[in-house]
Amino acid sequence: MTRAKKMIDKIKELMYMPERIRNMGIVAHIDHGKTTLSDNLLAGAGMISEELAGQQLYLDFDEQERERGITINAANVSMVHEYKGKEYLINLIDTPGHVDFGGDVTRAMRAVDGVIVVVDAVEGVMPQTETVLRQALRENVKPVLFVNKVDRLIRELELTPDQMQERLIKVITEVNKLIKAMKPEKYKEWMIKVEDGSVAFGSALYKWAVSVPAMKETGIGFKEVYKYLKEDNWRELAKKSPLHRVVLDMVIKHLPSPIEAQKERIKVIWKGDINSPEGQAMVKCDPKGPVALMITKIIIDPHAGEVAVGRLYSGTLRPGMELYIVDRKAKNRVQTVGVFMGPKRIELPEVPAGNIVAVVGLKDAVAGSTCSTLENFTPFESIKHISEPVVTMA
Ligand code: GDP
Repeated sequence: MTRAKKMIDKIKELMYMPERIRNMGIVAHIDHGKTTLSDNLLAGAGMISEELAGQQLYLDFDEQERERGITINAANVSMVHEYKGKEYLINLIDTPGHVDFGGDVTRAMRAVDGVIVVVDAVEGVMPQTETVLRQALRENVKPVLFVNKVDRLIRELELTPDQMQERLIKVITEVNKLIKAMKPEKYKEWMIKVEDGSVAFGSALYKWAVSVPAMKETGIGFKEVYKYLKEDNWRELAKKSPLHRVVLDMVIKHLPSPIEAQKERIKVIWKGDINSPEGQAMVKCDPKGPVALMITKIIIDPHAGEVAVGRLYSGTLRPGMELYIVDRKAKNRVQTVGVFMGPKRIELPEVPAGNIVAVVGLKDAVAGSTCSTLENFTPFESIKHISEPVVTMA
């Protein structure tokens, strides 16, 4: 069996096990490393061709610069990752990073249950970090933290291990302050803690990361990181404590599955009657319920044309189904349904609740549309977003 065929079989199995799915996003201030992290997670998890992933391992930086950006235009990329002997399907949904796209960020936030907040260790928490984190918290999306570019603390700033720790603690404290202010009722559960591994430190570019739980397995902690980086031996560090393993372990352990998340999130993102059959179907992530789908992005496929990508909260999508695009007062017939394998779309006979789905045929849908088998389904709440203060030129 080819590797791709094996991967399709795995995804086909995992998509029916919502407790093994994580729908997440990555948010960051511009240049803090969101693209580099996304690409290297995908490569590390083996989701881009072996050839490319293999090459990337040996590329020098100029070439690596050319190869980066695989995930940059994707609506969603998926990864399969093994954690404590079980495989999981991780969907990384594009959450546009720029403040100009505030509405898009919030819309994408609605399709995820958790986010990795990426912060540059040198710059620390920046205004845009705060904006995107606030948006996540408002949507009841749980954060974990990745402090990136730790290599710069040693190579550029030449900090001592103590000074390094001080900086990292400062980032954690600032993130926790925001969580406490925005979500006091969730603070105890959601606060970022070094000890439980809801924060990881590392370098997306040099492909290594560390966390307290990972250290227990790899033996690589701060002292070792310092030693390797002082010797400029990041390759060894990346081999002993690889970025994708540490970060994806954190995602699986700390971010909720759709089953867990939808229990609480539906009442935040949907203003219909939670006790109605459709409300309860979403709360339970029921594949047998009516279809409740929120479109996050329309992509143009060279062969299929327009493809609507979104989060399926309840029901099961199949080709031939008629769906109401409730916000547009239109009815469209589903032509094909599929999911993602890495950055590629694969078509399948059906896709159940809890997944990120790619649908061909919803010609009236736009980003933000609500699609359902019920004509009078309440659309997902209209999107509000927090805008940045406007700076005017004198
Ligand atoms: P984005 O704007 O958040 O998507 O950031 P990018 O992923 O495009 O990264 C911005 C710049 O930071 C690029 O030049 C990356 O090569 C660089 N970068 C990303 N991660 C690291 C890292 O871990 N260490 C260092 N030194 N540079 C990094």
